[in-house]
Amino acid sequence: MGKKMHCSHCKTTIGPFLKYAKNKYGEQYYYCRECQKERTREYGKTKNGRKNKLKATIKYNKKNPSKVNAWKRKYYYVKTGKIIPADNCEVCGVKIKTETHHLEYKSPANILWVCRACHKNIHKTKTSRKR
Ligand SMILES: [Zn+2]
Ligand SMILES: [Zn+2]
Ligand SMILES: [Zn+2]
Repeated sequence: MGKKMHCSHCKTTIGPFLKYAKNKYGEQYYYCRECQKERTREYGKTKNGRKNKLKATIKYNKKNPSKVNAWKRKYYYVKTGKIIPADNCEVCGVKIKTETHHLEYKSPANILWVCRACHKNIHKTKTSRKR
């Protein structure tokens, strides 16, 4: 105790730190947020990491069947020409590869074609408005 905490990986003393298991010398290991991110990224590339990612996706899909259905139907609509992807952002009008924002998951045709920046904004304002 009394010793300043630091990341066992990059030696930074700027927290927050995540506590890790002790190493074989009985030293407590800590990781800063950046190194932790790096670790997760590296882990995601491993076989086990990929398996876990897939599991998480399946779990998510099971939890959000309406969302997954909306996505599936959207792709079907686009493929069959019922929905034509816009090549302009419907919010700021910039001509760019657009993404879809679902206004309502119950009706998959009810989507907005937006650029990445606007899409981020939509979700940001949505979550910040949460009561
Ligand atoms: Zn670090
Ligand atoms: Zn936009
Ligand atoms: Zn969206």
